[in-house]
Amino acid sequence: VTSEHTSLWCEQAWLGGDGVVDGVVIALAGDRIAGIERNVAGAPAGATRLEGLTLPGLANAHSHAFHRALRGRTHRAGGTFWTWREQMYDLASDLDPDRYEALATATFAEMVLSGYTCVGEFHYLHHAPGGTPYGDANEIGRRLIVAAAGAGIRLTLLDACYLAGGIGVEPSPVQMRFSDGTTEAWAARVDELSGAATASCRIGVAIHSVRAVPPGAVGAVAAFAGERDAVVHAHVSEQPQENAESLAAYRATPVQILDDVGALSPRFTAVHATHVSGSDIEMLAARRSRCCICPTTERDLADGIGPTAELGAAGIELCLGSDSHAVIDPFEEARAVELNQRLVTLRRGTHQPADLLAAATAAGYDSLGWPGGGRVAVGAPADLVTVSFAGPRLAGVDRRSDPLAAVVFAASAGDVHDVVVGGEHVVRDGVHQRVDVPAALASSIDAVWTRP
Ligand SMILES: [Zn+2]
Repeated sequence: VTSEHTSLWCEQAWLGGDGVVDGVVIALAGDRIAGIERNVAGAPAGATRLEGLTLPGLANAHSHAFHRALRGRTHRAGGTFWTWREQMYDLASDLDPDRYEALATATFAEMVLSGYTCVGEFHYLHHAPGGTPYGDANEIGRRLIVAAAGAGIRLTLLDACYLAGGIGVEPSPVQMRFSDGTTEAWAARVDELSGAATASCRIGVAIHSVRAVPPGAVGAVAAFAGERDAVVHAHVSEQPQENAESLAAYRATPVQILDDVGALSPRFTAVHATHVSGSDIEMLAARRSRCCICPTTERDLADGIGPTAELGAAGIELCLGSDSHAVIDPFEEARAVELNQRLVTLRRGTHQPADLLAAATAAGYDSLGWPGGGRVAVGAPADLVTVSFAGPRLAGVDRRSDPLAAVVFAASAGDVHDVVVGGEHVVRDGVHQRVDVPAALASSIDAVWTRP
């Protein structure tokens, strides 16, 4: 990856607490931001012009890349999260490394085109059908790393421990692909994968859920992560049934189990947290853990609306993820957090636009183990997204008064004009410079549904 410019001139840029500033020159040194100059009228000679509002890179803190192949195929029949999961397992049962890599490359490229510059890939499809490890036990993890590099997105590969088919239930045949059998085997595999980290790829860990990982094993994974200072993500209380099963088996909520074994920390992110209790929220806040909300997936799967007002009031940082990729649009995720609260509370303004953008940027980077990223700041990774105001959705809005609100409440992925990742201009004038995204999606998804 080469950096072809030394400076960018932003017509407007959001500088976090300093708000939106006109005429910002961002100097780059390799993959980092080296300098910021404000109120520069007109692009200096040699600077690349970024017309519109430039934001820090947007983080997709929760992704399962292969779910992209389910888009448009699961919405008609009704059912619940659990019937959707059967459709997802049908897909998971048949993926092989080549088709997975092509699908993940296309999916990650769609993310970049939509303004995501960093993704947390929650990876649990580790082994060949039947559960036999590939010759390289990290074959698929490495393919995901190759896919992210090819798509030009920063990656945290969250390698998930998955041992049980449910509380006290052996894994089903398809779930055998997810299981390493023991935490020791999982840990050995993850340690081996750690050598694959690069300047734009980090290895984190995940506990799939308390459904799939018994409490003792949750503690072992948390201890492993603590020794390596790795971030830890877990699906938490996505569905009421998960809470009911956890309470029945352990007399504890999923969050209580995580806290009891020492898994909650500032390196921990609870994904969904849709059905957490008041005491769960107190525990997450006391340990300074984060919550990753995935609104477009949670509404698609009929999960419910998470208590984001209460989480925010407790001081818990929120981040955002597109999870099942029912849609990939960071602005839709951000505004949905607030719009869901409007429907629940009958009031506007629980979450302010700047707070929603902070969730979409800095908090996501922090959650994924890139502290200081997702900010337009000296020393931060040079990850930037420019939203154009020239398209039909934003034409005519008042860019002087509140451009952040306009972007949060009215922009779409299609308004992303330029994306810079690690100093490389990956999307230019709305076009991915490396991948023909629609063609790559069409061919890779066609391939995964074409069965012998
Ligand atoms: Zn998930």
